[in-house]
Amino acid sequence: MVWDFSTEPEFQEKLDWMDRFVREEVEPLDLVFTAPGDPFDPASPAQRAMAPLKEEVRRQGLWACHLGPELGGQGYGQVKLALMNEILGRSRFAPTVFGTQAPDTGNAEILARYGTEEQKKRYLQPLLDGEIFSCFAMTEPQGGADPGEFRCRARRDGDHWVIDGEKWFASHARFAEFLIVMAVTNPDVPIHEGASMFLVEKGTPGMEIVRNAAVGPCYGVEGVHAYLRFTNCRVPADHLLGPEGKGFEVAQARLGGGRVHHAMRTVAVLRRCLEMMCERALSRRTRGVRLAELQLTQEKIADAYTRLQQFRLHVLYTAWLMDRDGGYSREVRREISAIKAAMPQVLKETVYAALHLHGSLGMTNETPLIQFWQLVPEMGLVDGPTEVHKISVAKSLLREFAPHEGLFPSYHIPTRRQAALEKFAPYLTERKEA
Ligand SMILES: Cc1cc2nc3c(=O)[nH]c(=O)nc-3n(C[C@H](O)[C@H](O)[C@H](O)COP(=O)(O)OP(=O)(O)OC[C@H]3O[C@@H](n4cnc5c(N)ncnc54)[C@H](O)[C@@H]3O)c2cc1C
Repeated sequence: MVWDFSTEPEFQEKLDWMDRFVREEVEPLDLVFTAPGDPFDPASPAQRAMAPLKEEVRRQGLWACHLGPELGGQGYGQVKLALMNEILGRSRFAPTVFGTQAPDTGNAEILARYGTEEQKKRYLQPLLDGEIFSCFAMTEPQGGADPGEFRCRARRDGDHWVIDGEKWFASHARFAEFLIVMAVTNPDVPIHEGASMFLVEKGTPGMEIVRNAAVGPCYGVEGVHAYLRFTNCRVPADHLLGPEGKGFEVAQARLGGGRVHHAMRTVAVLRRCLEMMCERALSRRTRGVRLAELQLTQEKIADAYTRLQQFRLHVLYTAWLMDRDGGYSREVRREISAIKAAMPQVLKETVYAALHLHGSLGMTNETPLIQFWQLVPEMGLVDGPTEVHKISVAKSLLREFAPHEGLFPSYHIPTRRQAALEKFAPYLTERKEA
């Protein structure tokens, strides 16, 4: 039996290189290219600035490490990916510089698992090579958390599928060479058996971006989350991705990975908050002492550290389970939902503590903290709201228990004590006799 929290020295060297590279070469991109779409917009000058950095990442053998070799990638497994993402999460640009940005990682996973050879050649390879960006369109304007509300339909017409309906919050649609779109193909069965996935290429007639929503109070700025409309949008029959009617099974292959990658990157945000808190507490003075000397500040720092450690270990444990099980076993899905549900809460507590410790400066656009604050609701919604994940965790746990017959529970002390007294009766008699 092995429980080992150490990192092998060769991989630690890679992590050390990554840490230096992200801090010195990648983080400066965040300070210059600030439009919401810059990391993914092929027309942004940021792409040219990123090109030599991507080359360097390739030279180091660290490009696109999210897919394992069995899926055509060059990944090292989820534990190593977790350790890498703990660094990449420091910067908005780092995932793109390392070829592991959402939603492309999840889309690559779907294509690798369900794509035909032709689909892999046409879409997966250029995606893994970082030549194109992609989009995943599942959520609809009238219903996101509940797929039972989905209305977007696809019907077969000869050797084509015809898609009609709308999608909402389809991230990066305006930069994507192709979109993976979920549509109902059989409305007469429950949605979990009646939805399918389609590959829709950029510029397909009948697909229209109504507008691009931006996250946060940046009024007038074009965001990256598309409101899409499909009107009589025809795609060839071989653009069906995965089996007809299995859209949800296909989606799970990407959503699980997406959720755990967000959690891995969240570790980086928690760590950055802690670093900022410590530096600020040691630097700032009030009433003649440094903030670091005040016990209520020390409590904030200690709590932030404990939350970071607890969350990080849960994420790494989940990654380890994924490596062990080689996919999304029931146990893996439960842990992913648990960390997904915990994420907004730990972020809320830690980012707020860090922001508050910085006083008015924390509220400004002069530290990363106010941007991190936006992650709190974002991480509570992206890839499914917290409530839905908590429900999954609870249901999965409850499946392992059975109701207890009788008036009092199985752990009722008087009942158990009676049984224990009977078990040890000979010894009790001995004592009386003595
Ligand atoms: C930054 C970001 C990026 C995203 N990118 C994509 C993307 O690329 N592609 C895509 O398809 N979608 C994307 N989404 C959408 C995301 O998947 C949805 O926001 C999410 O599934 C919730 O759907 P909704 O927003 O419609 O909320 P709703 O379904 O309207 O839910 C609103 C609230 O209702 C409550 N609620 C819902 N269901 C339950 C329940 N069962 N029990 C208790 N309370 C409940 C929760 O409080 C929930 O937050 C993205 C979202 C964000 C924030």
